[in-house]
Amino acid sequence: AHALLTAYLIGWDSGFHYYALLTIPLITLAYFDDNRMKGVAIFGVIALMVATDALSRGGAPAYVLERSVVDTLHYANLIASLSILAVIVAFYFGLITRTEDKLRQLATTDPLTHLLNRRSMLEIWDLECATQKRSGNPMSVILCDIDHFKRINDQHGHDVGDQVLRVVSETLADKTRQSDHVARWGGEEFLVLMVGTPIDKAKQLAEKLRQTVSRLDVPIDDKNGAQLQVTLTFGVTDMPPSKTDSQEAAITRADVALYAGKHAGRNCVRCQGYDQPLVRHNAA
Ligand code: GH3
Ligand code: MG
Ligand code: MG
Repeated sequence: AHALLTAYLIGWDSGFHYYALLTIPLITLAYFDDNRMKGVAIFGVIALMVATDALSRGGAPAYVLERSVVDTLHYANLIASLSILAVIVAFYFGLITRTEDKLRQLATTDPLTHLLNRRSMLEIWDLECATQKRSGNPMSVILCDIDHFKRINDQHGHDVGDQVLRVVSETLADKTRQSDHVARWGGEEFLVLMVGTPIDKAKQLAEKLRQTVSRLDVPIDDKNGAQLQVTLTFGVTDMPPSKTDSQEAAITRADVALYAGKHAGRNCVRCQGYDQPLVRHNAA
């Protein structure tokens, strides 16, 4: 209506009709129950613009303004409407980028702990293995599991169990390097992949993580300030460069070491290196 009115009153050249064009991206972004209505609305805007153009361009407007005034209006309107268009496009781009980030985060991370999920860890691990083939750098794997977690759930409830998982996850993420990858591997099991780290260094890190977690006071009740202590058992292995190894074999070794730690009384670190013979324990 504004475009029609200005074209009729002071002429098409005044450029107020540019703003009407901005309704097209806005209609595209707007929510419609029926998407076909978007097409109809956009077609309506185009038809109106063409009709107004045909009726008013070249003809004399109701009020004839000085040429310089019309030119000034024309360029001011052109600049303003294109600037608004740039803002709409930037907003739309931001919206898409944020949505993409959110989807990627949902697909790759565990919602409770915000650590990598198992699938994305396996993908990253694949890439790191490919890189290792060229770089020849060592790589180590830590598998750790919360001790007697079932007891925590049974005695304090599932919400406290979840809180423990979050606090332990934060600690693992905090105490590892930026280049390390930390995943929630299973229910109360975590996997740390350390690129460029030989097994002795990985063992040291596992020991540091073990001590840090065992010293934590996990708040479990805000009202009475109750806290809970929690421990982890660690299994460590390495994937030496230029050796025939696989993720499955490395997980088996880390799992055997973890099981040995559980067998030895928990809250400890055990290693099962690539070169060591596999010693399985029968019962924990
Ligand atoms: P161990 O020291 O031998 O590891 O004993 P455990 O009790 O930790 O191991 P077990 O495998 O018997 O129990 C694991 C428990 O973890 C059982 C399961 O209900 C719980 N669990 C798994 N995922 C979640 C979760 O997301 N939240 C909570 N609260 N509990 C979980
Ligand atoms: Mg456990
Ligand atoms: Mg477990």
